[in-house]
Amino acid sequence: MSIAKNLTQIKSQLPNHVTLVAVSKTKPVSDLMEAYNAGQRIFGENKIQEMTEKWEQMPKDIEWHMIGHVQTNKVKFMAEYVSLVHGVDSLKLLEEINKQAKKHNRIIDCLLQVHIAEEETKFGLNEEELDEILKQLFDSAQSDNNKLENVRVVGLMGMATFTENTVQIEKEFKHLKTIFDRLQTSNSQLQILSMGMSGDYQLAISSGSTMVRIGSSIFGGR
Ligand SMILES: *Cc1c(COP(=O)(O)O)cnc(C)c1O
Repeated sequence: MSIAKNLTQIKSQLPNHVTLVAVSKTKPVSDLMEAYNAGQRIFGENKIQEMTEKWEQMPKDIEWHMIGHVQTNKVKFMAEYVSLVHGVDSLKLLEEINKQAKKHNRIIDCLLQVHIAEEETKFGLNEEELDEILKQLFDSAQSDNNKLENVRVVGLMGMATFTENTVQIEKEFKHLKTIFDRLQTSNSQLQILSMGMSGDYQLAISSGSTMVRIGSSIFGGR
């Protein structure tokens, strides 16, 4: 199947309120252009250098999403253009994104990554750390010093355990949705719930996802 056909097929299954991020990591620009020519404008990458090279070569109406783990010292390379950072898991990183965004006179949208999987290896905050970061953000927004004016936390991101066990995957997605709903009642800025990949996006959507990150089902295996 072609990239364009894969895209059409996946998009036909997505409800209107769900945004598709085409995860193009490791794929050549020619593949991304095929998706672009089929109408796709949101691309997700997990390495800042690779994303920047693609951004330089591709049309400027693309929204670039950073979906991987972000190293603080690399934030400066994407601050000029990145539109959403999915994997924010510390206040320190948020402060660096704020600092770099300020240099470009931009406000960069971010998602806080929550650890929902059983595996130790997956990055992300636990619920307590998440509450703590939001509290600090909120408190600093009240005081004049230490304001993070150039970042906006607009939602949460999570990854389920890599397993065939759909009951477990669904449990993890629903857990994140519960956290999201709880936080949203006191913070209307939280609008995006990024969860679901090629293997589990249907489950993610039925559990409340508003943004899916799909790679191999569009571009083929890596
Ligand atoms: C690679 C990646 C995806 C896409 O994975 P597929 O299984 O190819 O759809 C989604 N989210 C993150 C964070 C990724 O690193």
